[in-house]
Amino acid sequence: MWRWYGPISYKLSAFTEADLSPLEIAYVDGGSSIVNKGHTVQVNVDAGSMLSVDNQSFELLQFHFHSPSENTIEGESFPMEMHLVHANEEGKLTVLAVLFELGAENSALESIWGRELDTVEEASAIEPLFNVESLLPADRQYYRFDGSLTTPPCSEGVTWLVLAEQVSVTQDQVDWFYDLMGESTNRPVQMINDRLIYN
Ligand SMILES: [Zn+2]
Repeated sequence: MWRWYGPISYKLSAFTEADLSPLEIAYVDGGSSIVNKGHTVQVNVDAGSMLSVDNQSFELLQFHFHSPSENTIEGESFPMEMHLVHANEEGKLTVLAVLFELGAENSALESIWGRELDTVEEASAIEPLFNVESLLPADRQYYRFDGSLTTPPCSEGVTWLVLAEQVSVTQDQVDWFYDLMGESTNRPVQMINDRLIYN
């Protein structure tokens, strides 16, 4: 059954219903450093944080941010988006995306945010280690589609999981990131080409 929504990311505009297997998230305290990559701020994650879906296990490698969001839901853009990048043993990538909406201060984010990161590629240690599960919404319902990475090399064959529930962020928290980058860090929205989204 087809349902038409507004565009998501990547201008996704068509959703189809499917029975998605629940996400099994087992993240540990692993966020060890935060780095200004020039085009994003990235948190490097130590080994041991796992995401399982469809009986496949993926290990979390890093997570990073974009502002404004790259994904939109029903045409709605969001001030910020987080991408959790995972790989399985064969190197297949799965990205879990979390959208931020303006609201209360995000205290979990605040614990890694606002550092002196003016120098590109200079890492700031995170102590104690950060558990990114504190940045996930309570509801783990998600949209799913197959796509590509949104930054070069933009390789195809990446599974995207976008959590349907948003988490809160203040304008000040968005501004810190946006000002550090000095420009928008979302990829221009692209038209969907025969991609299906399942929810
Ligand atoms: Zn990204």
